[in-house]
Amino acid sequence: MKNVVILGAGYAGLTTLKGLKKAAKAGEVKVTLVNKNSYHYDTVNLHEVSAGNIPAKDICIDIKDLVSPGVEFVQDEVIKIDVEKKLVLTKKHELDYDVLVVGLGFQPETFGIEGMAENALPIANVNAAEKIAATLEDNFRKYATSEEKDVKDISVIVGGTGLAGMEFLGELVHRKKELCSKYGIDEKLVKIYGLDAAPTLLPMFTKEYSDYARKYLEDNGIEIILGAGIKGATKDSFTIEVDGERKDLYASTLVWTAGVRGNKLMDEAFPELAKRGRLVTTQQLTVPGHDEIYIVGDCAAFIETGQERPYPTTAQIANQMGAYVGARISGKQVGDFKYINRGVVCSLGHKDGIADVMGGKKAKGFKAAKLKKIIEAKAIYELTDFVTALKNQRIL
Ligand code: FAD
Repeated sequence: MKNVVILGAGYAGLTTLKGLKKAAKAGEVKVTLVNKNSYHYDTVNLHEVSAGNIPAKDICIDIKDLVSPGVEFVQDEVIKIDVEKKLVLTKKHELDYDVLVVGLGFQPETFGIEGMAENALPIANVNAAEKIAATLEDNFRKYATSEEKDVKDISVIVGGTGLAGMEFLGELVHRKKELCSKYGIDEKLVKIYGLDAAPTLLPMFTKEYSDYARKYLEDNGIEIILGAGIKGATKDSFTIEVDGERKDLYASTLVWTAGVRGNKLMDEAFPELAKRGRLVTTQQLTVPGHDEIYIVGDCAAFIETGQERPYPTTAQIANQMGAYVGARISGKQVGDFKYINRGVVCSLGHKDGIADVMGGKKAKGFKAAKLKKIIEAKAIYELTDFVTALKNQRIL
């Protein structure tokens, strides 16, 4: 019986598991899922927790609900993958494998910007998201209760206006109102900046749509500064360079969303092949020279034959990769991996957003925000099952 070990219970790891459940139940494979936490969290909703608009429990699913006959769950942190000995070392265990699936996800990348890693909070996982929400509220409370008020305490700087940064800014529109009302602060005094080195906002959308998103944020008191090279951070400031001129912006809440990389364990396991925690896989998502190791999700750089660049790291591709690998390991004839791009949605809080989805269907406003929730519900069903999705109130 094939001994399959899956590392990581994110989108990629759980869809792989789902694809293997039948084979595991039939005794054709033995599956071990390894994950740091006892729960899966929906990374695509971390910005909502980071803003403090929803509690973390709303985006978590208990992994024990997903364990079925033939599947074992090991809750532990992976510390090393020994490719030569075909072993995975966790803090407490040593696991051997015939087939390994690595779905260890992303980590923040600050590109060596001075002070960034030490001072800005990344939207990286549940704990990090809760820390951002707590910091934001602590700072607003401090402002409200201090004799000598410092506007820095009700200022927020978000480094990065990609999807994660824009969605977080969208959540701040609602949270700002809530915090101001709770602590009796004049909303007009709050300063929120979204910064990006890129000259264009959300280039995956048409200009009309990215302008819509920008206007929505600006109409709600958020300043977007593009072409802003972020040069450094201190505990309460970012230094930016715009048109050759340096300038300091001050805020007590500093958030970093401008860079992600694959998991650092990838670089240690595959020193010749991995770069910034990601590895260019074969067309079957395996490691070149190691047919027994699959890389899925944000640790994989998949370049389709005929293309030059890897696809961006998204939950959408992570789900498709997991489904492919699950089918392949369980013996289905699946050919090469093919990615189907179903489009992109950027929420701006719960009631607004922009969407450009498969078939050229576009939407903005409330419809786009609801579309995002439908897509999320579908994704949860894809990686769990109807009962689990229902139990976790993910069915609309
Ligand atoms: P992850 O979902 O990161 O899961 C990795 C798992 O591995 C986690 O459970 C983690 O705890 C576990 N793990 C990590 N290290 C270890 C270790 N050493 N030992 C044991 N376990 C470990 N994508 C979209 O398609 N649409 C969106 O709208 C979207 N919005 C986003 C919004 C935000 C705020 C962010 C941050 C990302 C967003 N993304 C979106 C990107 C998407 O979330 C990622 O591409 C996706 O989560 C990658 O899935 P994954 O399975 O590779 O990794």
